[in-house]
Amino acid sequence: MKIIAVGASVTGLAAAAALADAGHEVELVEREAAAPPSTLDEAAGGWVRPTVPQAAHSHAFGSRGTNLLRDRLPDVYEALVAAGAGKVNLADFPPPMLGDFERTPSDAELNMLTSRRSVFEWVLRDRALARPGVSVRSGATVRGVVAGGGRVTGVRLDDGREIAADLVLDASGRKTAAAQWLGAAGLPVPEQTSESCRITYYTRYYRRLTPAPPGPLNRGFGAGGLWDSYTAVLFLGDGDTFSISLGVLPDDKEMKALRTEEAFTAAIRATPLLAGWVAPGNSEPISPVYAMGGLDNSSRLADPAGDLPVGFYGLGDSVCTTNPAYGRGVSLALAHIFELVDTLAAHPTVDRGQAARFAGASKALLAPWLGESIANDRGRAGLWEATVKGGRPQMPPPGVVTFGTVVAASTKDVEIWRRVAQVMMSLVSPAELYANDEIKERVGTALAGGPPPMLPGAGRADLVAAVRAASGGATEQAA
Ligand SMILES: Cc1cc2nc3c(=O)[nH]c(=O)nc-3n(C[C@H](O)[C@H](O)[C@H](O)COP(=O)(O)OP(=O)(O)OC[C@H]3O[C@@H](n4cnc5c(N)ncnc54)[C@H](O)[C@@H]3O)c2cc1C
Repeated sequence: MKIIAVGASVTGLAAAAALADAGHEVELVEREAAAPPSTLDEAAGGWVRPTVPQAAHSHAFGSRGTNLLRDRLPDVYEALVAAGAGKVNLADFPPPMLGDFERTPSDAELNMLTSRRSVFEWVLRDRALARPGVSVRSGATVRGVVAGGGRVTGVRLDDGREIAADLVLDASGRKTAAAQWLGAAGLPVPEQTSESCRITYYTRYYRRLTPAPPGPLNRGFGAGGLWDSYTAVLFLGDGDTFSISLGVLPDDKEMKALRTEEAFTAAIRATPLLAGWVAPGNSEPISPVYAMGGLDNSSRLADPAGDLPVGFYGLGDSVCTTNPAYGRGVSLALAHIFELVDTLAAHPTVDRGQAARFAGASKALLAPWLGESIANDRGRAGLWEATVKGGRPQMPPPGVVTFGTVVAASTKDVEIWRRVAQVMMSLVSPAELYANDEIKERVGTALAGGPPPMLPGAGRADLVAAVRAASGGATEQAA
């Protein structure tokens, strides 16, 4: 089958590789005209991606996606390891409070790869384009779909040219214009929903100068915590690189200064969990500070029982985005891609039956993670807003299991830790954590004697003081 994929970023490239392996011909159409770096070193040193701003931010490659690469795109997995990506199994890093830790067979699935996104994507691109049947047309923006006989038959480019295909895939990311394309062609448009994640990220990359990690790795693939008005996470990268991201409320005026290197560094030094990583002599920064806001939990999932476009499927961010704090985007994109590969194998005819089958698989895969991300973001943003306004954060009612409570309880009960890890790694559904009676009971028991000690972070007053001092007192004062 001749397939066009709109967008040659992570989703388009992985889809092209997977579909080529299944015997299809894939043409990637990418609006970015600039040639990508010709070597891995060049990409690692700073691959400027104006159309993919999130590529500059910390990326964790979770177990679901890592295992899919290992099992279904093994050449990509091996090439990533050869390029310096680290292999981590989370069961090698259980919380010290759990004492003697006994592995179970399911722990073998808690794998991650640690890599900068630039390295990950360069290797993926290299492997995808090495496959017979995969080509890329760069500097070409899709402006619409061509339709006939009630289905999509190709795409229209910005210069008016049309390219015919048996199937069109939308891998154009979170800002997809697919609704306009389908609407203009008179085809059904999936319902769109969006709710702000209420978080802005600031990220910087570093190179470690010490032979051993200069700080704790409480998450195995990195370190991090969530405090009363911010989150700070460190992700190990390829080789001796690492990145640190800070997340705050978008309207937290005191924290707007984090975009400066001085305030960003001061906020990390005020966070004891991470301070050692940026102490003089322990690391050197290798990038400026990048900022990104405007993030939402969004869905453009089609209703399998409703009116569906035929010959046109969205993949990855173009269909669903969740808060990057949970590090699921790439894992879910890969899982979505293999749902498509399996759908095409089981139902090769491009028709309504195929569309309904894929719409059903997409909804079953993605909707639970969207729901979890929305619920967790509401809880976390409520806590931060109360703190920033100087109020007392609301605690969840007794018996209600939230992200905060399961994470706290996971340091005291190995079964809760394992379930949290499996859900964070998108390996089992969120209901198995938040709506499971056994887990509820265990959380109640684990927290009966009070919550465990907080990870060493900064309280609001100390964080504000550190950022103000680093900015010469010139932060934007709260109105
Ligand atoms: C701050 C941040 C941190 C993140 N951290 C993580 C993480 O830790 N782990 C994780 O798994 N995920 C993370 N994600 C999510 C992850 O980055 C996305 O899920 C992933 O980039 C989606 O890839 P994509 O290919 O679907 O879309 P994109 O990467 O956005 O790519 C879309 C591509 O389509 C092209 N395009 C757009 N429109 C057109 C058009 N009309 N014609 C032709 N080409 C077009 C663009 O130029 C681009 O190349 C993070 C996201 C953000 C915002």
